[in-house]
Amino acid sequence: MKVLKFGGTSVGKPERMHSIANLIKGNDKKLIVLSAVSGTTNALVAISEALSANDSEKGMKLIDELFKPYFNFVDQLFSTTEAKKNGQKIIDIHYEFVKSFLNKSFGEKETKIILAEGELISTALFQEYLLEIGYKSVLLPALDFMKIDEDNEPVLTHIEDKLNPIIAKHTDAQYFITQGFIARNSNGEIDNLKRGGSDYTASLVGAAIRAEEVQIWTDIDGMHNNDPRIVKNTFPIAALTFDEAAELAYFGAKILHPSTILPAKKYAIPVRLLNTMQPEAKGTVIADQTSDRDIKAIAAKDNLIAIKIKSTRMLLAYGFLRRVFEVFEKYKTPIDMITTSEVAVSVTIDDDKNLINILEELKSFCTVEVDKNQTIVCIVGDFLEDKPGLVKKIFDALKAIPIRMISYGGSKNNVSVLINTQHKNDALNALNEGVF
Ligand code: ADP
Ligand code: ASP
Ligand code: MG
Repeated sequence: MKVLKFGGTSVGKPERMHSIANLIKGNDKKLIVLSAVSGTTNALVAISEALSANDSEKGMKLIDELFKPYFNFVDQLFSTTEAKKNGQKIIDIHYEFVKSFLNKSFGEKETKIILAEGELISTALFQEYLLEIGYKSVLLPALDFMKIDEDNEPVLTHIEDKLNPIIAKHTDAQYFITQGFIARNSNGEIDNLKRGGSDYTASLVGAAIRAEEVQIWTDIDGMHNNDPRIVKNTFPIAALTFDEAAELAYFGAKILHPSTILPAKKYAIPVRLLNTMQPEAKGTVIADQTSDRDIKAIAAKDNLIAIKIKSTRMLLAYGFLRRVFEVFEKYKTPIDMITTSEVAVSVTIDDDKNLINILEELKSFCTVEVDKNQTIVCIVGDFLEDKPGLVKKIFDALKAIPIRMISYGGSKNNVSVLINTQHKNDALNALNEGVF
């Protein structure tokens, strides 16, 4: 079975839903993962912020603004009176549900319940549409099988154990529709896989059912060699290895949620990135191997914090790095990049939840300097030792950019540099000219 995930733009208009119904047509069984209609999750975030701030008036206004266009959406999605009526009922129910949070105490738990509405609405509408046009499809509630643990990590064994029997039960069904993004947490409450998480849902369910392939359908023809929102003349990359794609996703290529590749890689399930607006385009295939050995692509991750940690003794005594890392471990804060010198070590983190505590503890045995607004620019490819010149090419391109940290040699497919975010656009454009 294949897993096909359609993102926000791909389900963003009634005619898009019509096209994806066409796209999924075929004789084989498919598991379809849908995002919320584009704009909906952002609107739900804004509604939650208003309700958290006890601003019911603003909350009500935002709720109306979100739901009003849905009544039109339904009218254009369906043809028969019967289906239109069912569609209106779906919207009514969700509209009333979101409104029921007005004038009540509202916190993090309620925010997560509200954020789940986007995917619940899009899948309910799409399922209703497939029924209208006679597809043998069933709606599988993701909250029945998607689960994260206390550390917000997905529990793949749980997903496997729950999802496979559900699928096996529906022998007649050909299309299984489910929500991306949403999951239950360790307390059984409604939670999610963080923004952009529908990609992650697709690879998790793909791994759980040992899918033949996971397809991520979006609004661009595959992974480009650079961020198309910042750089002109980018082009799609035909093939990437799991490791290359994982680095690009982790270091900011927005087309994939940062963790998407891991479950697919575990079971060597190819991931294909495809364009809903241009289905005949080849896109990008992510698999075990590619034949290309060169610089493949560049991505950038913002909002990083650089911490320079200097040993108060003259030299980096043994045991010093262990003590440093233990502090980050204690506060469950991952380190993205690291460089060392004789007397100091610099690290970057992107989770600042425990920054104050981390700094406090580090200061008990070293001196620290903190720089915010940092960006990692990550150059991904196959940097074999027998390919001299690649690194020169990179730094020649970056000659006008002030660089704070450099990381090379950690893996054979990544060179990363840390720069101030103000230089990001220049760096991405300079690299685009210099290395491709
Ligand atoms: P979806 O809603 O389908 O999940 P996203 O907006 O999350 O879509 O991801 C697709 C977008 O990612 C593209 O429209 C593009 O602007 C952006 N993007 C950023 N970096 C890249 C890249 N390297 N290759 C392709 N797209 C990228
Ligand atoms: N709807 C969610 C978001 O906008 C998840 C996703 O689209 O992947 O972040
Ligand atoms: Mg996305």
